[in-house]
Amino acid sequence: MARIVMKFGGTSVADLDRIHNVARHVKREVDAGHEVAVVVSAMSGKTNELVGWVQNMPKVAGSNAPFYDAREYDAIVASGEQVTSGLLAIALQSMGINARSWQGWQIPIRTDNAHGAARILDIEGADIIRRMGEGQVAVVAGFQGLGPDNRLATLGRGGSDTSAVAIAAAVKADRCDIYTDVDGVYTTDPRIEPKARRLKKIAFEEMLEMASLGAKVLQVRSVELAMVHKVRTFVRSSFEDPDAPGMGDLLNPPGTLICDEEEIVEQEVVTGIAYAKDEAQISLRRLADRPGVSAAIFGPLAEAHINVDMIVQNISEDGSKTDMTFTVPSGDVDKALRVLGDNKEKIGYDVIQSEAGLVKVSVIGIGMRSHAGVAASAFRALADKGINIKAITTSEIKISILIDGPYAELAVRTLHSAYGLDKS
Ligand code: ADP
Ligand code: ASP
Ligand code: MG
Repeated sequence: MARIVMKFGGTSVADLDRIHNVARHVKREVDAGHEVAVVVSAMSGKTNELVGWVQNMPKVAGSNAPFYDAREYDAIVASGEQVTSGLLAIALQSMGINARSWQGWQIPIRTDNAHGAARILDIEGADIIRRMGEGQVAVVAGFQGLGPDNRLATLGRGGSDTSAVAIAAAVKADRCDIYTDVDGVYTTDPRIEPKARRLKKIAFEEMLEMASLGAKVLQVRSVELAMVHKVRTFVRSSFEDPDAPGMGDLLNPPGTLICDEEEIVEQEVVTGIAYAKDEAQISLRRLADRPGVSAAIFGPLAEAHINVDMIVQNISEDGSKTDMTFTVPSGDVDKALRVLGDNKEKIGYDVIQSEAGLVKVSVIGIGMRSHAGVAASAFRALADKGINIKAITTSEIKISILIDGPYAELAVRTLHSAYGLDKS
């Protein structure tokens, strides 16, 4: 007997037939004698619809800025998961399985106060553990918890992954299975590169980079939690026949295991390629080259909650003036330009230039720590395809390259093949 948390994403619960199919996956584990908790997302497209409704509410007179109370946003967008948790509980009951739905506040899953992007602080797992022990399946609404203000709080887009891993940690599950519309984590997004290969295992740190750099198969926070709490997490497909051979394998289920790097025997130099769309570049020209200038730029941007990513400062030719270039999400460009305009005197620059619609493509692999020349191969491969590089950043295990938006798919495929990831 094992304790298993199973999470099903939006496409896996997109309609009643698929919810029934999910119930069959759950039944397989229950019939095998395991204690099961299930976490569900909203039906696919539902959260987008709910977010759209909030964003299309009337704006404040004279302003184009979205105006809404973040607590009401959460009350609205959390509703999608409430529906699927109830539907799945009914589907399970109709198969003779003892099951009930749980909303985040009922457990409760306690979060901080950051409505719209809340972090889970604590989960009281005792009640669920007791009922699982009595043979009841807990069907938990993902993406939501209860804030310190006693209001619903949502965990940011893709947050049901985090709900699942956090619950797995809280109930000390033997395994957390993230069921989705692909059968594992691939060397790159299989929608962009059909030759992408499924990875049998990927190290926590690599998965963290992949997720942070755009691979939306897992929310970043879920990988952090899995790493910290050592949750044995698999990414697998909900679309396979629930009763196919091997589906119920306790130790080696089909899919990709996210694990410690020591568990990976054959470590490649490069593990995967990720991409993030909708990046924008801002350049400040002829900036005074003096101490404190970076603080004068990035301080006000941080106060405005604008996430600055790649930063490049040119060498000053005459020792007095320089240029500074950095990236922000495209959606934040207008706000960033406003903040920089308001602080022009303090910062001291000549002109601002900006360009939206860029893409950041990243090469990720723990093996880079001990191999030279990985970056050079990327630059060579992109140059051969005539793709211009606008900015570069590197860390121990990743290289990120900023390019023009229309080249995104070509760049992903080019890098994927440059490192031989399409060959088994
Ligand atoms: P869910 O609704 O189940 O949470 P998501 O849409 O959030 O599913 O995540 C699954 C999607 O992630 C896949 O359909 C795939 O297009 C995308 N994806 C991006 N990068 C990768 C990758 N490296 N491996 C697998 N899937 C990836
Ligand atoms: N339904 C939420 C979203 O679409 C949470 C999730 O699916 O993980 O972002
Ligand atoms: Mg997701």
